[in-house]
Amino acid sequence: MKLLSLYLLTFAFFQSSWSFSYDGYKAYSVTPKTLGQAKILKEFEDDEHFDFWSEFRALNSSVDVMVSPKAQLDFENFLSSEGIDYTIFIENVEEKIQEENKRQKRSALVTRGDVSFTEFMRYDDITAYLDKLNVEYSNIAQTQIIGKSFEGRDLYLIKISSGGSNKPILFMQAAIHAREWIAPPVALYVINQLVENPENADLYQNVDWVIVPVVNPDGYEFSHVDTRLWRKTRTPGTICAGTDGNRNFDYHWMVTGASGWQCSQTYAGHSPFSEVETQAIRDYVLANKENIKLFLDIHSYGNWLLYPWGYTTDPPDDADELQALGDRVNDAIAAVRGTTYTVGNSTSCYTPRRVLVQITPRELLVSI
Ligand SMILES: [Zn+2]
Repeated sequence: MKLLSLYLLTFAFFQSSWSFSYDGYKAYSVTPKTLGQAKILKEFEDDEHFDFWSEFRALNSSVDVMVSPKAQLDFENFLSSEGIDYTIFIENVEEKIQEENKRQKRSALVTRGDVSFTEFMRYDDITAYLDKLNVEYSNIAQTQIIGKSFEGRDLYLIKISSGGSNKPILFMQAAIHAREWIAPPVALYVINQLVENPENADLYQNVDWVIVPVVNPDGYEFSHVDTRLWRKTRTPGTICAGTDGNRNFDYHWMVTGASGWQCSQTYAGHSPFSEVETQAIRDYVLANKENIKLFLDIHSYGNWLLYPWGYTTDPPDDADELQALGDRVNDAIAAVRGTTYTVGNSTSCYTPRRVLVQITPRELLVSI
């Protein structure tokens, strides 16, 4: 009997420590129609019971927020009393996560050194693929370790180049936010198509591509084994762990769209560049700043192509050029996929110009 109790206790402990459960969590789509409503909703952003999955970008466009079971009744009453429209689009988030787990388990295991676009790869498998390219395509692909994550993982970068020096660099990074699992496959697909598809060789004749497929591997792994919707880094705090790497760059640090509360999903860190992961990106970019002509930061989700600024509503000097570039990207995607993206600067519904939070790290914004 004692043995059985011990077993049950151990099992319960193992179950609860293996993974955070989102049982009973609901996802709401909320649509503010006035600036006042949008401002009221923003006040929920630092509350631990609320997790905003998308950002306010325009009035009458919806924002998605997950709410813990404890806060749902009050939240719904509040929305009704304020006359704010909402729908519930996921009744139980945990069920969706379990469905995703089952899909992951059903798909064939990726062979070490291969790449897969039918499952979400673990970080070790991603770096094994980059290592293989480094060996098998050493004439055009070189990996580089640009630092270590807080938990000691190598931070990988791959450079794809036809050789020569002083060429313009297109820098691309993904997964500074851990839970955005679709971002690394996007970066990996670009890598795969450039390196392994000879038809694309012309794309790296005049430009070097430098790609970091996972900026935040600690958080990425944590989102695979413990808390599926983990977003931040894994540095410990006095109360809550993790910093939002995308709020940790020093350019107008903490001016807008970031939080000083360490339990917030948008916690900017105790100081700019407090995170070793953002330090590694900073050091590489500053060492190559004369050559980096475009910096792309891949996130999910939302069909947005965003350019600076986030801290001010004033447009950058080259806003017209950035808009034209974004329009061309949108047209190219639409021609193949039939999907459309909204092109604009990082936006807010607080001003007519719609500027809120830019999605790219702030001091690294170098346009073509
Ligand atoms: Zn993100």
